[in-house]
Amino acid sequence: MNKSKICIVGAGPGGCSTALFLAKKGIPSILIDKATFPRDKICGDGVSGWVLNILNKLDPSINYQLTEKPYQVPSWGARFVAPNHQVLDVPFKIEDAVNDDLPAGFVSKRIDFDNFLVDQAKQNPLIDFIEGTEINHFETGKEAAVLRDSSGKEFYCQIAVFANGAYSKFSKQLAGIKMEKKHYIAGIRSYYKGVNGTHKKNYIELHFLKNLLPGYFWIFPLPNGEANVGLGMRSDKISKKKVNLKKELYELLQSHPDLKERFKNAEQIDTPKGFGLPLGSKKRKISGERFMLIGDAASLIDPFTGEGIGNAMASGMYAAIHAQKCLEKGDYSAKFMEGYDRYTYGRIGSELKLSTLMQDLLNFPWLFSLIVNKVISNPTLRNTMSCMLTDIEVRAQLKKPSFYFKVLFG
Ligand SMILES: Cc1cc2nc3c(=O)[nH]c(=O)nc-3n(C[C@H](O)[C@H](O)[C@H](O)COP(=O)(O)OP(=O)(O)OC[C@H]3O[C@@H](n4cnc5c(N)ncnc54)[C@H](O)[C@@H]3O)c2cc1C
Repeated sequence: MNKSKICIVGAGPGGCSTALFLAKKGIPSILIDKATFPRDKICGDGVSGWVLNILNKLDPSINYQLTEKPYQVPSWGARFVAPNHQVLDVPFKIEDAVNDDLPAGFVSKRIDFDNFLVDQAKQNPLIDFIEGTEINHFETGKEAAVLRDSSGKEFYCQIAVFANGAYSKFSKQLAGIKMEKKHYIAGIRSYYKGVNGTHKKNYIELHFLKNLLPGYFWIFPLPNGEANVGLGMRSDKISKKKVNLKKELYELLQSHPDLKERFKNAEQIDTPKGFGLPLGSKKRKISGERFMLIGDAASLIDPFTGEGIGNAMASGMYAAIHAQKCLEKGDYSAKFMEGYDRYTYGRIGSELKLSTLMQDLLNFPWLFSLIVNKVISNPTLRNTMSCMLTDIEVRAQLKKPSFYFKVLFG
């Protein structure tokens, strides 16, 4: 019989993180994915310092293993292009640097990065990894919860962790999470080779173009002269402006004054593919009797940057912490499971709120451009921005009107 204390549905970054943190605590789990790995995931492929911090908590050697992989490039900063075309380069600085000799971020195709995490799970004797199995049924009982796949195969556990991504039907069925266009981004990704003008230290590029706000066009450099190129926009604006993202992408690359030069010799190596990004701009219920939701299934994507790998892995870590408490107490009631909601929002809630505020700022392109102009000409402000990219305490200044006053008139 397939039985474990914890069953995890979905082996993306969120699911792998849950299983690996549980294993670190000596708790066995079954990790199930409908795909067979390696598998692709539509993404910008940006692996931030937040991800490296979490991997470091798991095992500091993992980041070093990742550095040695030929399929990643280290990234040392971010390039912001404001609506008025001004360019702002901000190096990443991490106050609590994971390791001084490691970069603050990477770019790696998800087919490789996710497989790297899956390999860590496969090598762990406490994780029973099952691929090619789609779970489509969940029910709770007095003694256990049951998960079932389409062939009728059953998995028994005390707690189910749903880490099955943006299109999770369990999020809707169990927690009532619906797709709300105001809290959702639609994104497309394509791969190119030979894009000119990328930063020599592999800065990720975020272009805040007027007609894409709130959202952006990106170029994230990859090994072998390749780049992940894409764009994302909030779904309510897409509907309102009747935007066709694929058409928009091709138009930009052919007619935007800066981009058409940079793409004139570039070769497209994969056609654009789309996927949804459920944002954490609204607080949701993310647990119930005998279950927790993780990562995209819990709508935890950063509303400003579109970054979701870090929060998926962090929520996996928090779920492991809470699962241990439940097992120790033998309490799997909805009320006790709520401790996971409190813990998760307690840790990343203020950051999500701040990013929602920054997303709101994008409704005022002139203000955004003005701030970028000021930061470009002021080294102290540039330094503050560097810290803001990685330090939530410094970023909290963005909540204060006095910050904008100082930037604009200081
Ligand atoms: C266009 C785009 C660009 C993005 N760019 C970035 C970026 O640059 N950086 C960043 O940090 N984030 C980015 N994100 C967000 C990021 O991709 C997600 O936040 C992240 O993948 C969430 O991880 P997860 O583990 O929650 O879900 P996923 O990575 O989606 O993994 C879910 C897993 O569940 C499996 N699964 C689904 N249903 C079932 C089922 N019923 N039974 C069993 N298995 C199932 C799937 O096969 C999959 O392996 C982007 C997203 C998009 C769409």
